[in-house]
Amino acid sequence: MAVRTSLLRRSPRGKVAANRPVPNIDGVPVEGDLLLGLSSNECDSIFPKLIFLPLRTHDVLREPGEPIKFGYFMNRGLTSVLSVMKDGKSVEVGLIGKEGFVGCPLLVGLSTSPTRAVIQIEGSGFRIAAADLEHALRDCPVLERRLQRFVQSMAMQGTQVAACNRLHEVDERLARWLLMSQDRIGSAIVPLTQELLGHMLGTRRSSVTVAAGILQKAGLITYTRGSVKIEDRPALMNAACECYESMLEQTRNWESESSQSISV
Ligand SMILES: [Zn+2]
Repeated sequence: MAVRTSLLRRSPRGKVAANRPVPNIDGVPVEGDLLLGLSSNECDSIFPKLIFLPLRTHDVLREPGEPIKFGYFMNRGLTSVLSVMKDGKSVEVGLIGKEGFVGCPLLVGLSTSPTRAVIQIEGSGFRIAAADLEHALRDCPVLERRLQRFVQSMAMQGTQVAACNRLHEVDERLARWLLMSQDRIGSAIVPLTQELLGHMLGTRRSSVTVAAGILQKAGLITYTRGSVKIEDRPALMNAACECYESMLEQTRNWESESSQSISV
């Protein structure tokens, strides 16, 4: 698999740093934060094992309890992590965009998960076989540390969302969800149906309709069939429950701690 570089790279925090190469895998620019800015040694270990994969809406990357054969470094789009009940009802417990990786149990030698991972917004990723990941990480201490920290951030997200679903109103949660999605896909237009939003927020479709109406009437979003456009992000942040800001603050704290660490 060809690995090429260009003259600029996008840093893990989304800034463009001069004179640092943007890696390409099979001609596809790497956009996922976890894979950017690695040393050439780590790139040489991990990139040849990655396979580019377009990811379409509704693609299921894993089902609860089934063996996880592959991990996915998200490059674009949005994966929803769902907790699924025996009667088929599900609620979202995590969101993964280009900052993340789908298949975290593999990082510690485990091969099943209690959750479903499904593509909510189409995009792309780089797939790696479970055995290849385990082998490559032996030579990739920086990538391994980043992945461990990503797992920590997903645990934090799941904890916050659990409290959010129980304690906060639907319009606040919808605002929080839209902001989280915008952060992960880098676009003010979030392609979604209200039915899907209902699943994600763990509430009835009619409740989502009312909540979207509240945000739209206030001029914060425009809802059209199949997509939501964020019109006023600062006002949407004010409309969101405290969970969004809380997660953002913790993420900033960890980024600050990471930047002081000599290992990453
Ligand atoms: Zn909340």
